[in-house]
Amino acid sequence: FDALASFDPDIAGVVLDELDRLRSGLQLIASENFTSPAVLAALGSTLSNKYAEGYPGARYYGGCEVVDRAESIGIERAKELFGAEHANLQPHSGANANLAAYGAFLQPGDTFLAMALPHGGHLTHGAKVSFSGKWFNAVQYGVNPETEHIDYDQVRDLAREHRPKMIICGGSAIPRLIDFAVFREICDEVGAIMMVDAAHFIGLVAGKAIPSPVPYADVVTFTTHKVLRGPRGGAFVCKAEHAKALDKAAFPMMQGGPLMHAVAAKAVNLKECLQPEYQAYARQVVANAQALTDGLASEGLRPVAGGTDTHLALLDLRETGVTGADAEARCGAAGIVLNKNAIPFDPQPASVASGIRVGSPAVTTQGMTETDMKEIASLIGTAIRDADGSRSAEVSAAVRELVGAHPAYPEPARAV
Ligand code: PLP
Repeated sequence: FDALASFDPDIAGVVLDELDRLRSGLQLIASENFTSPAVLAALGSTLSNKYAEGYPGARYYGGCEVVDRAESIGIERAKELFGAEHANLQPHSGANANLAAYGAFLQPGDTFLAMALPHGGHLTHGAKVSFSGKWFNAVQYGVNPETEHIDYDQVRDLAREHRPKMIICGGSAIPRLIDFAVFREICDEVGAIMMVDAAHFIGLVAGKAIPSPVPYADVVTFTTHKVLRGPRGGAFVCKAEHAKALDKAAFPMMQGGPLMHAVAAKAVNLKECLQPEYQAYARQVVANAQALTDGLASEGLRPVAGGTDTHLALLDLRETGVTGADAEARCGAAGIVLNKNAIPFDPQPASVASGIRVGSPAVTTQGMTETDMKEIASLIGTAIRDADGSRSAEVSAAVRELVGAHPAYPEPARAV
């Protein structure tokens, strides 16, 4: 850091200010976490310099024998952690991991079936603004209006009607467990590839806190930076029979050289996930999400789908008369960072939204427990109802006290 601070105080200042922001607020974005110093060390290493197109032992550049070790170790750890036949750590992001899966199994114009974005899916699952909605015929399923759980009957009906080449489950705002066995059954019936986008919940699978999709799916794509707590990036695991097609789709079809510093950091994170403490962490993430959801329900925020089995909850704010956008801004002003989120069948546009999404991965990394979640829920309730901002200072002070007792990272020496 000293080299950065002396050469470029502007960017060094950004780095320190972001650290201050992380340390001084409550980070409840469901897709974020605090990665470890060991992972950050690998990310900031000279492995960033190396071109290594190809895979370990079969590269298009010389001098790869050292970085090969990082990738091979990481692949073996991923296979062990997930009980998978094959793993690939090269996708630069979750979107790229999905791009690789589409590249391996679909041709432009082919039909796939996935969850609609407004019901909890992801942009890359067929939204019109994404490559996935532009290049393919994306048929979309949603949740049952009464239960707000995935409508498996609709999935089956749409699969029979459209005969998709691939069916995708997983998403960005699904609080409940997904029944992978039902998806497998539907895929087998119509002869579709089963893809699970486990970006959000793969960390809970790694920590054995929820059931694994790996035995069911042809391919499981994921991000490495959410509950998993690794570096920002993507990866996938798959059945051995698809390994060649998927590897070729990741490189050279969709990407060039892998980011070897990120691959090494993924390997470090996978080692962390193999430790028994990580399983305790994953269980606590779920317990905290449930405590937070119960607390928010007591504050008059309705949990979509009746609650959560995972690390995130979606809250319907309509009974409070406050929009998702206003709730996000009011909480943000008091140091509580969360995001507005569309709820299923939302009458508001996505930019306003009737809901918020909250997640427990980061606060759990900080060591907070159910008691803290109750307090956070009460602070969120107060902030959301605080239309004139008169209670913002009081909420901010309580937030500072909470995070002060559970620092995300040590305080840096301010040399600049
Ligand atoms: N898939 C799902 C379900 C996600 O939630 C996300 C990101 O939030 C992605 C894919 C894309 O990941 P990335 O932002 O790394 O491209």
